[in-house]
Amino acid sequence: MAAKSSKKPTENVLPALSVDAAVVPALLSFFEAHKRDLPWRRTRDPYAVWVSEIMLQQTRVEAVIPYYERFMQVLPNVTALAACPDDQLFKLWEGLGYYSRVKNMRRAAQVMVQNGMTTLPQTHVALLSLPGIGQYTAGAIASIAWGLPVPAVDGNVLRVTARLCDCYCNILDPAFKTAAEAAWAPLIPTDGSAGLFTQSLFELGATVCLPRTPKCEECPVRDKCRAYAAGHTTELPVRISKTQKTICEKTVWLLTNRDNSRVVICARPDTGLLAGLYEFPNCEGTCGESAFHALFPGVTSESVTALPPAKHVFTHLIWQMIGYRVVLSDAVLDTFATIPNGTNPFVADVRDLRDKYSIPSAFGAYKKILIPNIDKKKGKVK
Ligand code: SF4
Repeated sequence: MAAKSSKKPTENVLPALSVDAAVVPALLSFFEAHKRDLPWRRTRDPYAVWVSEIMLQQTRVEAVIPYYERFMQVLPNVTALAACPDDQLFKLWEGLGYYSRVKNMRRAAQVMVQNGMTTLPQTHVALLSLPGIGQYTAGAIASIAWGLPVPAVDGNVLRVTARLCDCYCNILDPAFKTAAEAAWAPLIPTDGSAGLFTQSLFELGATVCLPRTPKCEECPVRDKCRAYAAGHTTELPVRISKTQKTICEKTVWLLTNRDNSRVVICARPDTGLLAGLYEFPNCEGTCGESAFHALFPGVTSESVTALPPAKHVFTHLIWQMIGYRVVLSDAVLDTFATIPNGTNPFVADVRDLRDKYSIPSAFGAYKKILIPNIDKKKGKVK
């Protein structure tokens, strides 16, 4: 590796980024030789590309594969997605988090069906007009499915770009993303191989130009990488998040019978965070076990046991949770409703948490107590 120079300060003024055009053939050859065999790479169906790209946002490839295969089996096209009811849709997505993404996908599918379309539109502009499809997703679909020379800049590509350009600007700044798109746009092949090029960049970022320990000795564009030449590869990229997460404390109540075969759950409200999913009864703040009697007046418990604390990180919010398992007799559980009615608590068979009612991964630590190993194939915590 080249000798390491002294660390540069973060740059506040974004310079024009330029990438050496010679990286294009090098990346295409690299992709041809080293691409992973992934289910969504066996097709250029724009619907399949769309589903995979939305699932891959924030989730590892290995974790996405079973979700992708199940989703495509149940909802193989735009028409099926447009008609999918909430519970089925959320069950297919359960464990991936970010439920607004799949809701937006269904809205987009409904827009297409209303307009008489059976698949995604063939222009970048038309793709961008659909709910939930932004610059990145539109670029990925346009290039991979339709072969259009449109950039698709995700987190991997931002990192690769910062290193190739030896740029110390904050890659989380939207201006950097715009500059990266402008840098790549003129380099994208116009001979129909735009999709291969897009995927080659993704592949480089996912398998070689890794976040903390880039494998520069294996890199096909090492001789065009300015960070490598300057010895800056592990200092880059610069990531400065300006988003402050709000911390929210919660107490979760796991109301079960002795053998954990029945549990009380509620539907979440129809709007807002995790809308339309289900949850265990919970309240704001960290409560002592005696709070149970105030929250559930008249409900007699056999025992109340503290559960381990849990934490869930959303994009702008952190839930810090404590929990209690409250054992109720079956006779007491019988006093609860047995079907959803608004957001009122009702008693469910625990097996239905696996097959029918979607409990978001934010409550995963408590769901696992009822159904051990249920989230084994889940992606990263969100
Ligand atoms: S040489 Fe290293 S830092 Fe530069 S693009 Fe290749 S893997 Fe990334």
